[in-house]
Amino acid sequence: MKKIIYWFRNDLRLQDQPLLKQFENRNDVLLLPVFCFDEKWFVKHKLGFPKTGSIRAKFLIESVNNLKNNLRQIGSDLLITSGKTEENLYEIASKFNANEIYAEKEDTSEEIFIEYELKKRLKIPIHFHESKTLLRTDQLPFSISNLPDIFTTFKKKVEPLLYVVESFDTLEKLPPFPDEFRNNQTYSLKDFSLDEPITDQRAVMNFVGGETDGLNRLNKFIWQDKSILHYKETRNQLIGENYSSKFSPWLANGSLSARKIFSDIKKFEKEVEANESTYWLVFELLWRDYFRFVIKKYSNKIFLKGGIKNKINDYKNDIELFERWRNGKTDNDFVNANMIELLKTGFMSNRGRQNVASYLCKDLKIDWRWGASWFESQLIDYDVASNWCNWMYIAGVGNDPRENRYFNVNKQAEMYDKDKSYRKLWLDK
Ligand code: FAD
Repeated sequence: MKKIIYWFRNDLRLQDQPLLKQFENRNDVLLLPVFCFDEKWFVKHKLGFPKTGSIRAKFLIESVNNLKNNLRQIGSDLLITSGKTEENLYEIASKFNANEIYAEKEDTSEEIFIEYELKKRLKIPIHFHESKTLLRTDQLPFSISNLPDIFTTFKKKVEPLLYVVESFDTLEKLPPFPDEFRNNQTYSLKDFSLDEPITDQRAVMNFVGGETDGLNRLNKFIWQDKSILHYKETRNQLIGENYSSKFSPWLANGSLSARKIFSDIKKFEKEVEANESTYWLVFELLWRDYFRFVIKKYSNKIFLKGGIKNKINDYKNDIELFERWRNGKTDNDFVNANMIELLKTGFMSNRGRQNVASYLCKDLKIDWRWGASWFESQLIDYDVASNWCNWMYIAGVGNDPRENRYFNVNKQAEMYDKDKSYRKLWLDK
């Protein structure tokens, strides 16, 4: 009997899994789904905070546990490990005598290193597939090296092709799971030396990790509350659950798929209503796609000070000023309110992110990569492409065609928080 390993990475779901779909209902193979908490995710950043903070780690643990439960319900299971992924997978594949490994492709150096190490050690085929974006690289009308450096050009070329986007139904039955790997091992924050985060009642919503909650959120925002119908008007607001979709945390670790969201939007447009707002949510998903392709094109350049433009700005490495920004103690109350929301809840609105990022690199003149690293630690929806590319954009070293874009945070506060209700929420004790 053929022995297959499916290595779950940032695709922690049963819905829209084209690769696993081919194994559905098959009894002629043994399938071993595996997830590994990699030790590199939990190291300390040189600025002193953990690379993965407790809020995001908690969300990830919940997502993995939910995946395990959902796999068990369809005749399979999940082997969860921690440590060096490449070593763990090597050992598991050897013990299992696996014939093949399947996994989603990642695009940045640490993840590619693991893929490389695995390929080097294991003499069996490892198949990678793409499932993060609406369109796969091979469906684009240009090669990655010819990806336009301006989003609008990309959008114009790609939008007419979106009719091909397809989302696969939830898996109903997977091949048998090998008994010798069955166990109840799960992980807690303590395993990664992290403390339980304290819940803050002011949070935009209670984010619970996992596909089950991701699909509930999708259902609520689009179908139940129909908040999608007002999205374009509300998306720049700062308070509450429904001003924007809040899909991002589930999208980031793949417990929700962008293609599933897209197909629900299309269905909603057909069955209920299509308007500028329903279009705008797709437009934002295209930004997400775009940044994923940017990292495929530029790989590790996105982590360099000069970004993809090789443009070196002068920054002060002022730790004290950075710490004040990070903890919401700058001289600007709008920035502080946003930074406190991030610190306490792991979330911040898009409008807030643009302002605090601009304030850090353009007003405080601190290296934008410090800010991006703090976001990486703290954001519940941290995604390598969306985070680093948005930061590059704001810092003027990325895909922004406008030179020297600047957010006047006082003006922005006046525009988006005129009655100061957002600042009161986060600054009044
Ligand atoms: P909605 O407004 O409802 O948008 C729907 C979806 O579209 C989002 O879930 C997201 O997947 C996508 N999207 C929307 N705006 C953007 C954008 N500017 N870039 C890429 N995708 C977008 N988003 C992340 O998912 N992870 C990050 O680590 C991240 N870091 C950011 C850092 C900075 C400095 C900035 C300015 C933006 C960052 N964003 C990031 C983008 C954006 O702020 C969030 O996606 C959005 O606020 C999430 O809330 P939502 O799901 O309610 O978004």
